[in-house]
Amino acid sequence: MEEFNIYRILLGDSPTHHSYQRVEDFCSAAELLDKKRLPGIVIIDGLKGKRASEGLRVLSEIVELRRSSGFCYAPIYLSQTMPRIDMLADGVTSDIEDRLTDACAILEKGIRIKSDDLTDNHNLRVLTYMYVRGEGFVLSPVCAPFSPWVYSYPEAALLLDSLDLSSKILNPEDYNGLERLRSFKFDKEMVMALKIVCFLEENGYLKKGSLSDRIRKCPKCKTGHLNYVDLCPSCGSIDFEKKNMIHCFVCGHVAPDDDFKKNMSFVCPKCGSVLRHLGSDYDHPLESHQCNDCGTKFIEPDVKADCLFCKTRTSPEDLVVINVYGYELTEKGTAAARTGKMQMEIQLFDGQNNLILAYFCKIVEWLREYRDRYPDEVFSLLGIRFANLYETQNIFGEEFYEKLMDELISRIRAMVRTTDLTTSSAPDTFWVLLPRTPLNKSTIIAQRIEALNDLIQTKTENKIRIKAQCFDIPATEREVSVENYLSDFSEAL
Ligand SMILES: [Zn+2]
Ligand SMILES: [Zn+2]
Ligand SMILES: [Zn+2]
Repeated sequence: MEEFNIYRILLGDSPTHHSYQRVEDFCSAAELLDKKRLPGIVIIDGLKGKRASEGLRVLSEIVELRRSSGFCYAPIYLSQTMPRIDMLADGVTSDIEDRLTDACAILEKGIRIKSDDLTDNHNLRVLTYMYVRGEGFVLSPVCAPFSPWVYSYPEAALLLDSLDLSSKILNPEDYNGLERLRSFKFDKEMVMALKIVCFLEENGYLKKGSLSDRIRKCPKCKTGHLNYVDLCPSCGSIDFEKKNMIHCFVCGHVAPDDDFKKNMSFVCPKCGSVLRHLGSDYDHPLESHQCNDCGTKFIEPDVKADCLFCKTRTSPEDLVVINVYGYELTEKGTAAARTGKMQMEIQLFDGQNNLILAYFCKIVEWLREYRDRYPDEVFSLLGIRFANLYETQNIFGEEFYEKLMDELISRIRAMVRTTDLTTSSAPDTFWVLLPRTPLNKSTIIAQRIEALNDLIQTKTENKIRIKAQCFDIPATEREVSVENYLSDFSEAL
């Protein structure tokens, strides 16, 4: 096993960490980052963390380390337990020796990771952070009952703080100085962390672990502080009472029993009948509530959820239901962390004619045989590849990217006949089978698709490139499979 350095950030004069291991002392994370480029094991020591200001100090050191591209995934320990801060570190220990195996395993896995890849790439940081913590690591949701987000992933929230990105994600005034630390909440980062986790899952980098809770959020402002109110179903007033009702069999009048009481007997206030026997003169109807505003009598009140933040009133069935999960890395996520590369997937084609690759190849194979017999039955293949998708999304932000992709996708779809078969051989590579279309005709479509680059180049400074080219499967060389042709053609794209 490799030898790794142990760095202690000594913040105060009451250190509790004692170890026979050689430890290098620094007075702050900033000093450590300034002097050391390669990550090591970090122990934060010297403060008892009993006072809120001490907890904040430790938090800001962790933030500083996690936002750096070198130490964002490093193992960080505290020498003393501190409420709310513990969960952001890898553990609490007064002797780092106890944790050396775990800590070294983390750094060992991180050895080949290039910190340059992690600059300005919060998605990859989250994957890397999880990856180095070993198989079975779960990114766990944490509940903060008074926060607007209720559940989020603080570990991921810490990782997104790289300089360039945070200026896009956060308003500058929110991340100056200690202002945002003071709240202990990181609201914006926590909301962003939710989005990151969601994005990584949608794109196959993370998978859901166990379900830990289910909450409901306001559909308007997406906060989770709801007040369930019961209301008069007729006028919506909250001012109603539960009453013992009487139903007069003579005239059918329904009213609270108070209205019927006269001296020692029940007299219907409407028809004047004296009601003696329950069951033959009167009964208790199902309606047992009466509205003090509109007088309506009803069986069950309506239930609505009032948002305590934005005051929107919502029917419970219209609330946004959120299942809260822990998350684990998928194989794709592991590969991305290991190689430092993420690939975006897009859904260029969908519907019945979008086939899995193997099936698509079978049909092309069949067409090839068909053409052997009927040489007039020509066909060609159109390949489309999007370059730099992931980088583009990082540079231009999610919203812009989605809009642009939506536009491109709908334009390309419009150029493809609804009867054409499509498939995808890589997250950014798509194929269209054009039956009865000779190469010279299909090339026109390819040119039209490539012309879309003109449309997007001013918007994206040529960062996204669409490559479209048509291919012909030769009538000779029968032994080469369609799969092989497609992978050769992919190289050319
Ligand atoms: Zn009412
Ligand atoms: Zn009556
Ligand atoms: Zn709301």
